[in-house]
Amino acid sequence: MATIVVAEDERDLNNLVRRHLEDEGHRVVQAFDGPSAVLAVGQERPDLLILDWMLPRLDGLEVCRRVRRDSIVPILMLTARSEEVDRVLGLEVGADDYLTKPFSIRELLARVRAMLRRVELLRVARPVEGDPPILVDGPLRIDVGQHLVSLDGRPLELTPKEFDLLALLVRNPGRAFSRDYLVETVWGYEYGGFDRTVDTHVLRLRKKLGPIGERIETVWSIGYRFARARDPA
Ligand code: CA
Repeated sequence: MATIVVAEDERDLNNLVRRHLEDEGHRVVQAFDGPSAVLAVGQERPDLLILDWMLPRLDGLEVCRRVRRDSIVPILMLTARSEEVDRVLGLEVGADDYLTKPFSIRELLARVRAMLRRVELLRVARPVEGDPPILVDGPLRIDVGQHLVSLDGRPLELTPKEFDLLALLVRNPGRAFSRDYLVETVWGYEYGGFDRTVDTHVLRLRKKLGPIGERIETVWSIGYRFARARDPA
């Protein structure tokens, strides 16, 4: 069960969405204009925000911008505009996904399920509050907050996805992750690429990491794991 803020000024649509989300067992908080959407997110700390683009007093884009100042809540934007420029603009201010109006309720619920599932995965993958934001394993040092990795004090240049992948593996030493899990967690459920992507990134990581890269082990027919440090002989 999740708490979901639904920000949509068309009351019939808002109520319809609410009813279906409640049927799925979620708790729904309704907002009918921009400022109350921002307020609801601040007060309720929801697991998901469903946000209409066209809202009175503050439009969805501005709501998105304000919410993103201090919240990483996933945002599903509803929009009647399907132009590419709008999608790009929305993604820039921090929306996570889109649904173009008109949409079917079934489509909305599927999207909500997928987004909540991803939140659940990230909860496993990301440090809980209070965890040290710096992971150290031998010569390897990962500063999660600063997105910096160094090896023997020498900074390593990693792409954002390489970084996320490495941080996830190192944070969970010894645990094997399937390719599907890694794709879904690091790239997101919306990623439509091939699972070779994970393999390619692991290859590049191993190369960049040198000897310690060998600890990213292939787990046959599953995926990968970061081997625990061996006790010094
Ligand atoms: Ca509207």
